[in-house]
Amino acid sequence: MAATDWESRLAAIVAEWEEGGRAALEKALTLEEVEAVRGSYLGRKGKLALLLRELGALPLEEKRRLGPRAQDAKRAIEEAAGLREKSLADFLDRAALKPLFNDPTLPGFLPPRGGLHPLTRIVDEVAEILLRLGFDWAEGPLIETERYNFEVLNIPEHHPSRDLMDTFYVSGAKGMVLRTHTSPVQGREMEKRTPPLRIFSPGRVFRRENVDATHSAVFHQIEGLCVDEGIGFADLKGTLEVFLKALLGPETKLRFRPSYFPFTEPSAEVDVQCFSCHGSGCGLCKRTGYIEMLGSGVVHSNVLKACGVDPGRWSGFAFGMGVERIAMLRWGVTDIRAFYESDVRVLGQFSR
Ligand SMILES: [Zn+2]
Repeated sequence: MAATDWESRLAAIVAEWEEGGRAALEKALTLEEVEAVRGSYLGRKGKLALLLRELGALPLEEKRRLGPRAQDAKRAIEEAAGLREKSLADFLDRAALKPLFNDPTLPGFLPPRGGLHPLTRIVDEVAEILLRLGFDWAEGPLIETERYNFEVLNIPEHHPSRDLMDTFYVSGAKGMVLRTHTSPVQGREMEKRTPPLRIFSPGRVFRRENVDATHSAVFHQIEGLCVDEGIGFADLKGTLEVFLKALLGPETKLRFRPSYFPFTEPSAEVDVQCFSCHGSGCGLCKRTGYIEMLGSGVVHSNVLKACGVDPGRWSGFAFGMGVERIAMLRWGVTDIRAFYESDVRVLGQFSR
């Protein structure tokens, strides 16, 4: 084949590329279309590839003259195909990601939300039930006088039952203590109001305890008090039955055990049938079938007298429970300290 012939074929291919091939590449919308254009020049049967294969037959001088021109044309086509391929691939990548960020039907990203502390949830639940039963929410100070914390509750000085509670005394303030129970609110409310009255009082209390898995120096109680004419133990029993069934479930079975508190007479501990084993005995109820829930009793006449309520006309009942205890039973928490450590990984499990 003559060199001139070869040269004019190369010129025709370059002209065709410049007039149509390059534009075809730029219009290609898929990687397959890019490859089809590239292949028509450089593929196994591509125009330029075939021509290049014939270059070997030309005389050496012609090869040196024409070879670089053909190589330039080849490089130009490869470069254009490569660029188009890359911009298409980028576009397809973006298109593949697009639905993740630009689909208006997808739910948005929610910021993390706080929740109520488990102890707050228990207090709220108890409060809801007692408010429905006609009890008013009442609160008292955390730093209390010995009078309200002990004396009006029938616990005079040197009375042995003061030893039942390890008390924090406030230094430099004679007669002041950190309240050891929520019961002082009873006396304050009886002095403030005139019977009939029904109050409950949730709050923090303090004892000199060594902190361990089941004891804390600070914990929470809820106290309930009802004073009216003709109130007796049956009213206490009925109220606690309704209250505990509302709190723990309608199947809840109660058991009253005689007990002793200085401010009630008679006094009773109230157990509920174990909600884990239903009475047959398990680890949670220590094989007894029952779980201790609260302390209660008929208000001692000395307490009524101390608060200016005439025990000849009025009588009442009172009950108290530990908030932590209910929360631990409810959620199977075995370490009381989990409630005070402010670890959001723990507290987050209780948020609604
Ligand atoms: Zn049990």
